[in-house]
Amino acid sequence: MAKPSFVEFGSQPIEKYRSVWVGDFDEIVAAADEARAEFAGRTVWHVSSTSLGGGVAEMLRSFLPYARDAGADNRWVVLSERPLFFGITKRIHNKLHGHPGDGGSLGEAERAVYEEILTDSAAQVLELGKPGDVFFLHDPQTAGLIPTIADAGFTTIWRCHVGVDKINEHVAEAINFLMPYVKRADAFVFSRRDYVWEGLPMEKAFLMPPAIDAFSPKNQELEPSVVKAILGKIGLSADNPEINPPFIRSDGSPGEIVSEAEILQVEPLPDDAFLIAQISRWDVLKDHEGLLECFAEYLGDTEAHLALIGPSSGAVADDPEGPAVQSRIFAAWNEMPEDLRRRIHIVNLPMNDFDENGAMVNAIQRRADVVVQKSLVEGFGLTVCEAMWKAKPVVASAIGGINDQIVDGESGMLVEDPTDLEAFADAFRKLINDPGLAERMGEAAQQRVVEQFLAIPRLIGYARLIGSVHDKRAASEPDQQTA
Ligand code: UDP
Repeated sequence: MAKPSFVEFGSQPIEKYRSVWVGDFDEIVAAADEARAEFAGRTVWHVSSTSLGGGVAEMLRSFLPYARDAGADNRWVVLSERPLFFGITKRIHNKLHGHPGDGGSLGEAERAVYEEILTDSAAQVLELGKPGDVFFLHDPQTAGLIPTIADAGFTTIWRCHVGVDKINEHVAEAINFLMPYVKRADAFVFSRRDYVWEGLPMEKAFLMPPAIDAFSPKNQELEPSVVKAILGKIGLSADNPEINPPFIRSDGSPGEIVSEAEILQVEPLPDDAFLIAQISRWDVLKDHEGLLECFAEYLGDTEAHLALIGPSSGAVADDPEGPAVQSRIFAAWNEMPEDLRRRIHIVNLPMNDFDENGAMVNAIQRRADVVVQKSLVEGFGLTVCEAMWKAKPVVASAIGGINDQIVDGESGMLVEDPTDLEAFADAFRKLINDPGLAERMGEAAQQRVVEQFLAIPRLIGYARLIGSVHDKRAASEPDQQTA
């Protein structure tokens, strides 16, 4: 039986943020003091289903090292489940996003498999805790652990990274499936108020919009010459750098890009090409196929290039549909006329070195003239923030948390109907034809991220959340705190 694995993430000084934080930095220092008091003698165990690829892993890596510096003993464990489990949890994921997924149901048979598979993990995870510890469980894959952990007397917090604007029958089915587990948690964390499930007590709900780390390999400043060298090294452009392009690793040590990407392209991206890029997991809900169709149908007469970037096939353990989605994208590309194929690049980034992968994403986002996120549903959409931080104009579907990030026409462009290909093409055209507009939007975008979406202010909410659940349990179950 495979054991859950630990993810190491080190510690990062919160002081780094003093230079970028626009608010009163003393508030952050005070939150760190509060955190130190709340966390004294107790560990917060974050449990997720993957350490790679996707927003959850990204956010934990962005935030936990700073929380550790602030005195919080955070640890991060990843479940090692079997493919059958991720088949079911991917179905839950799709339905929670309002889509039928593979068309299967979430009935008693699926519940039995889900619970049976999680039984071993629950026992293993429980062994980690000592009295007073908190288990912070992320997303549907871990929700089934809540009752066992709660029964053992530990505080449990469930973090839902998924949310939709409208509840349809699929969403209702997924919520219904998860509710018996989730309602046992001491607190629930959602990204937006609208995402909090009906039926959960509001007084236990906390809101925490995702945020990015300005200094991670994915978001750190890169010189234009390094951006150019990284694109050459991975094979997206024709440049052949003499030395391996440098970047700073998450732990502050020097890193180098040594790997190449697997790329489907007729020829490399020319240096002066206008580049539209989408960076996403290979998931139908990111609608890569719609983007290809939009490009083929409406942008054939431009000189623009399109790059679809994602993790190397099969690298994201909890996302079993990736290879199938990518085969469809390859098939669509193959059917296109040569002139279009010459301008479309499909890039699989290596995932074996998380920091190196982040630096590659960073370089591509910085090289892009426009970043697009044409998702059909999106809980938050970290890639939007990442590009905005790099002062890029983003064209994105007006859905979910993307609406919180972009102010339409000011800090990016929102397309009301995510399936409206012509509207996406119009937005791209405006930016292709008006570099001044692109620049103004990019600057406003960066400002917005600085004000609202950097990781460090989240420390304040985190310390309060841990404090409040602990206080509540201390009041209601005094025996368990000393057990
Ligand atoms: N990502 C990455 N490498 C890739 C593709 C995506 O590191 O090849 C990252 C991306 O930069 C972002 C995260 O995965 O940080 C995706 O988060 P988002 O919230 O956009 O979507 P999710 O995958 O959670 O649905």
